[in-house]
Amino acid sequence: MMRQYELVDRVRRYNPATDEGLLDSAYVYAMKAHGSQTRASGDPYFSHPLEVAAILTDLKLDDATIVAALLHDTIEDTKATRAEIGKKFGKDIATLVEGLTKIKKLDLVSKQAAQAENLRKLLLAIADDVRVLLVKLADRLHNMRTLKFVPEEKRGRIAEETLDIYAPLAGRMGMQDMREELEDLSFRQLQPDVCRSIESRLLALRERNAGLIKVIEEELTAELARAGTRAKVRGREKRPYSIWKKMERKAVGFEQLSDLYGFRVVVDTVVDCYKAVGIVHTKWPFVPGRFKDYISTPKQNDYRSLHTTVVGPGRQRVELQIRTNEMDQVAEYGIAAHALYKDGDKDGEILPHDSNAYAWLRRTIEMLAEGSSPEEFLEHTKLELFHDQVFCFTPNGRLIALPRKATPIDFAYAVHTDVGNSAIGCKINGQVAPLVSELQTGDEVEIIRGDAKAPPAAWDAIVITGKARAAIRRATRTAVRAQYTGLGRRMVERAFAKATLPMSEEKLQAALPRLARHTTEDLFSSVGRGEIKPDDVLRAVDPDWRGERVTGAKTPKSEGGWFGLRRASSLKFRIPEKGKEEKSSAIPIRGINGELPVRFAPNGGAVPGDRIVGILTPGEGITIYPIHSPSLKEYDDQPERWLDVRWDMEDTEPQRFPSQIAVNAKNEPGSLAQVAAVIGEHGGNIDNIRMGGKTADFHRMIIDVEVFDLKHLNAILTQLRAKKVVAAAERVNG
Ligand code: MN
Repeated sequence: MMRQYELVDRVRRYNPATDEGLLDSAYVYAMKAHGSQTRASGDPYFSHPLEVAAILTDLKLDDATIVAALLHDTIEDTKATRAEIGKKFGKDIATLVEGLTKIKKLDLVSKQAAQAENLRKLLLAIADDVRVLLVKLADRLHNMRTLKFVPEEKRGRIAEETLDIYAPLAGRMGMQDMREELEDLSFRQLQPDVCRSIESRLLALRERNAGLIKVIEEELTAELARAGTRAKVRGREKRPYSIWKKMERKAVGFEQLSDLYGFRVVVDTVVDCYKAVGIVHTKWPFVPGRFKDYISTPKQNDYRSLHTTVVGPGRQRVELQIRTNEMDQVAEYGIAAHALYKDGDKDGEILPHDSNAYAWLRRTIEMLAEGSSPEEFLEHTKLELFHDQVFCFTPNGRLIALPRKATPIDFAYAVHTDVGNSAIGCKINGQVAPLVSELQTGDEVEIIRGDAKAPPAAWDAIVITGKARAAIRRATRTAVRAQYTGLGRRMVERAFAKATLPMSEEKLQAALPRLARHTTEDLFSSVGRGEIKPDDVLRAVDPDWRGERVTGAKTPKSEGGWFGLRRASSLKFRIPEKGKEEKSSAIPIRGINGELPVRFAPNGGAVPGDRIVGILTPGEGITIYPIHSPSLKEYDDQPERWLDVRWDMEDTEPQRFPSQIAVNAKNEPGSLAQVAAVIGEHGGNIDNIRMGGKTADFHRMIIDVEVFDLKHLNAILTQLRAKKVVAAAERVNG
């Protein structure tokens, strides 16, 4: 059992100002209070609160939390009272211990209604002071570590509760190590066979790859050092439970899991993070689609890091998390990293109030206060903890529960069909965001509505919920038909005008049988869809017509506006975020005076500030190109398909657009790192880096970078050109 002075030593290592007298008297008080009580293991009971306190010293927590841990079972299990603890240790500590006492007997896997009430009590106790949760989690961790001493019939229930409630809570608070250990301990209890088989395969792998982690660590460290970047590299195996979850999620076997090793690279500054990723990508081939920038966009629980996967030494796929020391602290300790309370500042606000994790907790509590039924609340909260749902809020606090991967469009339809149909944009937590973003629990979503009455048909492929999909299909069937009818009518009118033939409803009616259509609306719709050519309509109306009678000059495109589609004043572009590959084929845009589907030319790379044109394809819609795009040559002789469009960014806050640049850099160590650092420093988001050709002196790299607009892109190019190591930097357009 840990001695009194050992505990004080542990605390003093991270908190030199610790109140030694306070810790000593709490140690003595708890030891005396528990007296001769023993645990199921036969150990003196006092060993338990002591171990709980020790776990919390690993999280570097303040004196009050350590003392509360020592005392956490005294009110319930001994003669100690709140009043006495208050007198001896102060109100702050007494409140913490009382909070812990209140939640001690909560059974979180009981009958639905009771469980809901218990979970409510738990969350309320935590909301008072998040340190209650930290002690509770440490308490549960120690109980799980010593689970084998508990009677067999109780173990399953405790493990279940841990896996359902406490592990996700730890994760939600950003305490990943704690979450993983809780998960693994529960997993071992609940599915011993599966757990054992994964562990034995890990063991076999460890033997086969003996020393590999060390080799990779050393190679990474050396490579970064060569480029002048100081880094601490730590490698580890994935944990059994997370491996099992992945096998389940991807429906693959152990052998197919290629990235069983993860490495953390901890560097000094944010710039170093981007440098390091450049160095790593230069040295080893990287796995496409695995680069994630959680530095510019932190996760909900405050987690920040760059992620990438490379094929490292020994052709082993290696997952890398690159971050600064500070980010590492948050990644490991989560909310506890913020929970450094100033002793003596007893009634001050608790620090974690400004963290995202705490904001989530607060909102969950608010939801309780809103008075949804306990069962409903439980359903929501548990599902949330199970990770298969996200919980978002309207600006007035209404809770909207959605399946994971839901988008703001799903959110809008969940609020009301009309809201979905008229959505043109959204704000997530106050920031303008793409409508195709993936919502996270706790997001506050504000839908920006326009006067549109129908959604773009492309949304059908983006939404997750059945409600949204059904509403979109209903609305677009009508709207799309109206669009094609309008477009077809204009095309036919234009053909008649060109042929100097008068067009009338009767003539068209008379020609319908020849065109195998029932109504003129059907006819126009078919023309709009490209099923019937306008010339065929002319021929059907006037069988004598043989072709254009007047070969007038083609209308120049600067005048082109036959379709009445020129006024593009409300054109809004919505671009999918990076990492949303599966959605990038459908860009919901509305506003071109009607509801024709609009998309960007693939690899067009148009960014705001570029001059752009729309190319109309009957039956498909409008494709946006930057005016300098070589692909536009194809349409030179079809001026009727050109549309004047323009950006309308006035009412929107900055958003990022994908672009591509090519950089010729000198062949010298660290050149890629320098390039990546310049882009990072100037606010560009690197999506991907590919190495192009290489000569003796130079190598060419193609970089996908997200920028706000043309000015931003040009600023980055200029900064790159200013670097000694850069010979040329230019924009690439497909
Ligand atoms: Mn306990």
